[in-house]
Amino acid sequence: MAEVESFTLDHTKVKAPYVRLITVEEGPKGDKIANYDLRLVQPNENAIPTAGLHTIEHLLAGLLRDRLTGVIDCSPFGCRTGFHLITWGEHSTTDVAKALKSALEEIAYHIEWKDVQGTTIESCGNYRDHSLFSAKEWSKKILAEGISDQPFERHVVD
Ligand SMILES: [Zn+2]
Repeated sequence: MAEVESFTLDHTKVKAPYVRLITVEEGPKGDKIANYDLRLVQPNENAIPTAGLHTIEHLLAGLLRDRLTGVIDCSPFGCRTGFHLITWGEHSTTDVAKALKSALEEIAYHIEWKDVQGTTIESCGNYRDHSLFSAKEWSKKILAEGISDQPFERHVVD
């Protein structure tokens, strides 16, 4: 089976919350796609409950597109400790961490339920499983710890 970089990362050595560049892949025509590890909580110590994570997912989908060019997708890890972010082209982890910080500030302090996209039976695969309260409380916790642009050392962005 193909070895996947994310599974070679020593999850006991990282210091969340952080942004890590996993890989930059180049397509046959030279286009580049970057994949980032947006680690919001410490692996094997915490996990964001599904309803809060689900609402953060719906909100980051729009908020990160407002803050970064070339966003293709931002999807939660099955372990519920963070997200993959996939973009056209490469951004510095500092710029991604600043965009993530700004998006989480928006969730924590400004977003209301009416602002959450895709919360109806037609527009979501599990519309009953959302919690803006949880999304806000977890965002505040992550912001209080600060978001590092490096995974192994705390180098928190402004
Ligand atoms: Zn959904």
